[in-house]
Amino acid sequence: MEQLSLGLNLQALVQAQLVVIAPTGSFNEILRGLQNNQGFGLVVEEQGQFQGLITQREVIRALGQGMSPEEITASKIMLPPDYCLRLNDLDDPLAVLERFRYFGVDALAVVNNSGGVEGLLTRQAFRESLRPVDLLRIKRVAEVMVPDVVTIAAEASLQEAAALMTERRVTSLVVPEATSSGLLPRGIITEKDIFEALHSQGGVLSGTVGSTMSQPVLTVTPDQTLWQVNHLFKEHGVRRVVVVDAKGQMVGIVTQSNLLAAIDITEAQGVIQVLTRELNQATAELRWQLSRQQAITVAITESEQRYNTLISHLPVAIYRRDRLWQFHYVSDQIYDLTGYFPQELSDLRRIIPPADLARAEREIEQAIQQQRAYSTTYRIQHRDGCFRWLSDRGQLNPETNTLYGVLLDVSEQKRTEERLKTALEREIIVSTIIQDIRQSLQLEEILQRAVTSIQQLLLSDRVLIYRFLEDGSGIVAVEATSSPAYAIRGQIIHDPCFSRETAQRFLEGRTLTISDVNQAQLQDCYRELLVGLQVQANLVVPLLHGQTLWGLLIAHQCSRPRLWQREELFLLQRIAEPLAVALQQAEMYQALEQANANLQQMAYLDSLTDIGNRRYFDELLAKEWRRCQREHCPLSLVLLDIDCFKAYNDHYGHLQGDEVLRQVAQILECCLQRAGDVAARFGGEEFALILPNTTQGGAIHVVEKVRAALAAANIPHAKSLVGSTLTASFGIATTVPAAPHLPADLLRWADQCLYKAKSLGRDRWIAKEL
Ligand code: GH3
Ligand code: MG
Ligand code: MG
Repeated sequence: MEQLSLGLNLQALVQAQLVVIAPTGSFNEILRGLQNNQGFGLVVEEQGQFQGLITQREVIRALGQGMSPEEITASKIMLPPDYCLRLNDLDDPLAVLERFRYFGVDALAVVNNSGGVEGLLTRQAFRESLRPVDLLRIKRVAEVMVPDVVTIAAEASLQEAAALMTERRVTSLVVPEATSSGLLPRGIITEKDIFEALHSQGGVLSGTVGSTMSQPVLTVTPDQTLWQVNHLFKEHGVRRVVVVDAKGQMVGIVTQSNLLAAIDITEAQGVIQVLTRELNQATAELRWQLSRQQAITVAITESEQRYNTLISHLPVAIYRRDRLWQFHYVSDQIYDLTGYFPQELSDLRRIIPPADLARAEREIEQAIQQQRAYSTTYRIQHRDGCFRWLSDRGQLNPETNTLYGVLLDVSEQKRTEERLKTALEREIIVSTIIQDIRQSLQLEEILQRAVTSIQQLLLSDRVLIYRFLEDGSGIVAVEATSSPAYAIRGQIIHDPCFSRETAQRFLEGRTLTISDVNQAQLQDCYRELLVGLQVQANLVVPLLHGQTLWGLLIAHQCSRPRLWQREELFLLQRIAEPLAVALQQAEMYQALEQANANLQQMAYLDSLTDIGNRRYFDELLAKEWRRCQREHCPLSLVLLDIDCFKAYNDHYGHLQGDEVLRQVAQILECCLQRAGDVAARFGGEEFALILPNTTQGGAIHVVEKVRAALAAANIPHAKSLVGSTLTASFGIATTVPAAPHLPADLLRWADQCLYKAKSLGRDRWIAKEL
């Protein structure tokens, strides 16, 4: 047998991280072990030596045979130690496949020369590692052969043979020979044989099958590989072989098209190339002969159609053309590739974009110069207007100066390439977004930038961040849309379907993908909600804040349903993660800012009266001074001092004194009505009023109001030198701030006035203007 190397590294497929079990292992240990190994198999080992293998089947079988779990141990149910692969078996994939087949298990232990276990090889891992091309080497004749062999007697006429081929839709007939051990293949007659006979007889079909058939018949056995069959085809220039059993009896037939059907054609380009080129050449040759035939019988016309059927299941169009792109022949599949029938498209150049054509011509001519087969790709404009990629491979027949070739639609491969390219671009954009997110502490900004980038990246109609509110509803906090018509920002959504279970699923990190709202299996309430928001397809991933569901990152398609790509979901997930972290940080940052603001406010507030304190007064006075100086408007300052307050404290107690201070502060606040007016506690029982943009007259008016309010408050003061109720004295200073004066000057003038008011008997104001 031919030495095969599939280029597979089987060693790499061996699962080495395994749970093993001792022969005495209990039923429960067996179950746990199997589960640990994903159910594939459990290796029984003692002192480093392989003892046997247990798969799920052994467990089921043991229970099925009536064993109770208590009596089951690993050694009682395990498969014998020959259920294994030796390390050197791994060099031969066919041998491995053979052993899987032979033992009929899904996993085998891999054992080294000293009997130690190296790991487990599963049939699944083995299968998944195969490339489609390898299938030719792995697949057996038995898997693809057609068991129904159409036979014909040697004495039959060629006319009868042609009729039988037409009727049974085959391209060859086997001539059997009856022997004592059964039917043996004696000869084979193909369409090609009939054509040749026809040709040599000058267009007349006469003679018998026996005189035309080829002998001996090439045979293979059912257990041979398709690779070997392909070799036979090439070596003998045939396109079919008869399958015989060990005794030489006919059991089936394998043709080149069976071979092609056995592999995934679109992926196995390399194999197609080999096989179709041969097929193509043979076919083109026949056609050429046909075209020269003057008298073609009905049988032959039908045969021609059968040739078309034969090649019609290939995803390729076969052609013969001259060097100016004029088709001499092109198979019907050109219609699938281009939307044009062969008779409509004598010149392919017409649908190839000029740039592509120039490049293709260059490549083809270059190959021809170098006397090799050409292979190029170019776009064509399909009749439906879309562009598709064709692969064009072929070679020149120098005798006729014509090109024989195969056209194959490779748009899918090209799209994959494109996708890979966009995947890379995406990756760059996504990492930029993520970096951006990590660097910003401004919540609004982060969210807006993220949704905008995602929307542009996905080209979806709407990307939004939905934030859950306390009552279970949620708000569309940020969004980016493809059109203002899709805007729903700020909308509060009460989702009647959003249950605890839904939330739990998102908390577990699960996502939601709907490609068509009208087709998906959804609760009616949810569908209505989505339809109401114009949603036709959506992608939803959770934004998690530790153990709480903060919100959802959502992409909507509103204009049409959309089959989301897996990468698009991954993209949202990838962004959601850092976004959630950023949200957390930003919220902490905002909380911190708030706390800072509180602290700051505390620093400016008088704790007793809750109005601004001396510090606040000082800063505000300086600020208003500057402003009024700039605007050339008057600034008034009032200092207020409660009369005989020491006596009040002494008589009524300090706590009652405090209460009065609070009362006075409130009266002041009430009397100030203009937006810029501010009252502050200056110290002790003294208060200050800053009245920007206020003339002396205005200030006096305010003071009179305060005096009236104090009188109206009617706070008893038995020990006052002034009267029976609480009163105060006021100093009023007004100026249009200007250099060289300073705020301290205004304060000094007001203080002087206050002093004067006290000395003149209290319960009055003195005003000064500068
Ligand atoms: P005058 O009419 O000349 O202003 O006499 P007065 O007693 O009000 O002035 P003085 O400056 O002699 O006394 C101020 C008093 O104000 C002293 C103190 O008992 C009282 N005082 C200052 N701060 C507070 C405070 O925070 N709470 C209370 N209850 N009393 C205060
Ligand atoms: Mg005082
Ligand atoms: Mg006082």
